[in-house]
Amino acid sequence: MSVLHPLRLEPIFKSMLWGGTRLPGFVRYPAPTTDAIGEAWMLSDVDDSISIIANGALAGRSLREVIAAHPAGIFGSKIPADGRFPLLFKFLDARKELSVQVHPNDAQALKFKGPGHRGKTEAWVILDADPRTSRLYAGFKTGTTAASFRAAMATNTIPETLHAFTPKPGDCVFLEAGTVHAIGADILLFEVQQTSDITYRLYDWDRVDAKTGQPRPLHIDDGLSCSNFDAGPCHPVQPKLVGDRHDVVSCPYFSIQHWHGDNPVSVGQAGACRVVVAIQGQGTLAGEPFQIGDVVLLPACLGPVPVVPNGSLRFLEIGLGGVA
Ligand SMILES: [Zn+2]
Repeated sequence: MSVLHPLRLEPIFKSMLWGGTRLPGFVRYPAPTTDAIGEAWMLSDVDDSISIIANGALAGRSLREVIAAHPAGIFGSKIPADGRFPLLFKFLDARKELSVQVHPNDAQALKFKGPGHRGKTEAWVILDADPRTSRLYAGFKTGTTAASFRAAMATNTIPETLHAFTPKPGDCVFLEAGTVHAIGADILLFEVQQTSDITYRLYDWDRVDAKTGQPRPLHIDDGLSCSNFDAGPCHPVQPKLVGDRHDVVSCPYFSIQHWHGDNPVSVGQAGACRVVVAIQGQGTLAGEPFQIGDVVLLPACLGPVPVVPNGSLRFLEIGLGGVA
């Protein structure tokens, strides 16, 4: 029998000038700092932030070590060529706005940063938002061009070039690489993205970083060369009901399904790696407590495992797509 089991990982907290105080309580881990915390990386194979297994026989080992020892057990037949986990999972607590930013696609990441770098297509699932103050910025307003964006930079009116809306809990926004975006204030969300940390900042709301006394650097030329001016506004996705769950996103990098109910259900699939994220309520997964804020990696070799809600439970099941 394999040593692999459902893997829970220790959160890696990231201090950010726009962050807040909610994440340690949300994921039930002590805050490592009194600084504002913007992100909790729940499953990461990014070089300087590799997750550590938190439970079971593999507790204390790094995700990368476990993948190296059991590639087929984790991924089934679709083992990534570089041996790295291809997705990064985070919770974000935006007390203030994040910068207006854009990420490259795979080809641009390779060109700008060299071999081993990937682009960043990402998706957000909104967990909490303030109906009066929260805004998401996703894609350009129709008609925005590189020239009109640069003109808006000169007149300090960048937000006016972006499509913006007030998000509600449960909304999912799918952002292909090249979609200019910003997460506004007072939003708690879950994010899934390609394993990449390449961000080009186009506008930072004229802020000064209290730590340095300086504005954070911008990356206008690289950012604009990655920005897709043809895609237009990016709206929340319309989920499709398939069987007992909703298909939310299906792209070459990942799929997201959403399940909500109070009856037992199974998650995971024989031969495929899945990640399950509880976003409301509580219950058990494979006999262990499973509640809001939990992110659990199901190795391919486990196959389906039971989820038993205790009351009403809502979770996301995420599949790895396009792994070469
Ligand atoms: Zn982003």
